[in-house]
Amino acid sequence: MLVGAHVSPAGGLVRALERGAERECQAIQIFNQSPRAWRPTTYSDDDFRVFRAAQPTSPVRAVLIHAVYLLNCASDDPEIATKSLTALVHALRVGDGIGAHAVVLHPGSAKAGSVPRAIRRAGKVMAEALAQSERCPLHLENTAGAGGTLGRSFDELARLIDSAGGDGRLGLCLDSCHLLASGFDIRSPDQLEAVLDDCGAAVGLERLGSLHLNDSQAPLGSNRDRHADLGTGELGEAGCSVFLSEPRFGALPCVLETPGADRKGASRDDVRFAQKLRRRGLAARRRT
Ligand SMILES: [Zn+2]
Ligand SMILES: [Zn+2]
Repeated sequence: MLVGAHVSPAGGLVRALERGAERECQAIQIFNQSPRAWRPTTYSDDDFRVFRAAQPTSPVRAVLIHAVYLLNCASDDPEIATKSLTALVHALRVGDGIGAHAVVLHPGSAKAGSVPRAIRRAGKVMAEALAQSERCPLHLENTAGAGGTLGRSFDELARLIDSAGGDGRLGLCLDSCHLLASGFDIRSPDQLEAVLDDCGAAVGLERLGSLHLNDSQAPLGSNRDRHADLGTGELGEAGCSVFLSEPRFGALPCVLETPGADRKGASRDDVRFAQKLRRRGLAARRRT
């Protein structure tokens, strides 16, 4: 498992690698543009070259790009759908440029409308975005299940992948906080194993491509997306250790999106703590 954190690319893409190294990250995640604005940040081929030249000497072995929150590929408003397509293509092309592991996407929201129709709309936008980019994988993130958000169950994620054409570039990003909030108890090794069996049956574990590790302020099944620092929420240290030591998570990148003590995101101490919990989880599994 490549453990790391969400970091800022402020000052240039390559700065994200530096921030990752400062935090002892083996994987990082960045936003490719301001997360709350449509206006894309434009990068040049030179920015991509500098990034690709710097990564081999960095401890960061995998880079995830989180698509911005404004996107709703499932929107029935043509203007929002078009803007979402443009932004998703932009994210995938940045991913192509820097050799990212994947773009992570919240699949969208049906709002108050029909879920099957929303899934079809989202699938169309995702398929078009893949067609307009070269190779960067697209990982759909499971959601906490608030409101009309799509992707709260493995069945729904499987239907989203199908409706996007089932391309080999489509994968899954599992978020531990969202799993718990959407009703999956993953706090013991046996429970997580059963949840992953269900994931495999619905989606196929070969699609499992990346992980977000966040503790959850909100309880099991609350459908509320409230990230907490590791060990301070409903997963607790034990639940986080289970997630970090799951054998089927193997070599996947796993990034923290936690608030951090100063509300500036995960620090080096937080990443070190995750590594400690991982060692603890692995040791506990060896004992049983
Ligand atoms: Zn997440
Ligand atoms: Zn979240």
